Amino acid sequence: MSGQGNRLECRLGSDYTGVPLTRQVDQVVVNNGTRPLDELYFALKPLSANQGRVDYDALVAGRPQPAAGAGFQLYRIGDAVSSRNVHAAIYDALRLLKDV
Ligand SMILES: Cc1cc2nc3c(=O)[nH]c(=O)nc-3n(C[C@H](O)[C@H](O)[C@H](O)COP(=O)(O)OP(=O)(O)OC[C@H]3O[C@@H](n4cnc5c(N)ncnc54)[C@H](O)[C@@H]3O)c2cc1C
Repeated sequence: MSGQGNRLECRLGSDYTGVPLTRQVDQVVVNNGTRPLDELYFALKPLSANQGRVDYDALVAGRPQPAAGAGFQLYRIGDAVSSRNVHAAIYDALRLLKDV
């Protein structure tokens, strides 16, 4: 985006079409989606064996998450982290659980 006189010139793209467009506009409205849906995560966090923690060193190395004692384990994924898309939610789950 750059200034062009008293207007803005925007370069627009899409992950799906790959067709870039350039438009001159008066205003740009950015929609960053909605807030995370994290109420259930925070309600369960104090009850979980791992206190809702992800071991990111293990995650990045592709190792299983460490056992955290008795009780259930809780991981925050998908839209509970941030409003994203189905691909992100499935990928979060895949990375965490592929080695279980
Ligand atoms: C209008 C709209 C359109 C979208 N379009 C697209 C699209 O075209 N492509 C795309 O990839 N993504 C799209 N998304 C985003 C996509 O829907 C989400 O990113 C994805 O569903 C996140 O998956 P999730 O499993 O993390 O959460 P969710 O799919 O929201 O699943 C969470 C589940 O937990 C349940 N739940 C919540 N609280 C409780 C509780 N206390 N007890 C029991 N159950 C509970 C909910 O009912 C829900 O079924 C869209 C989202 C919206 C709102």
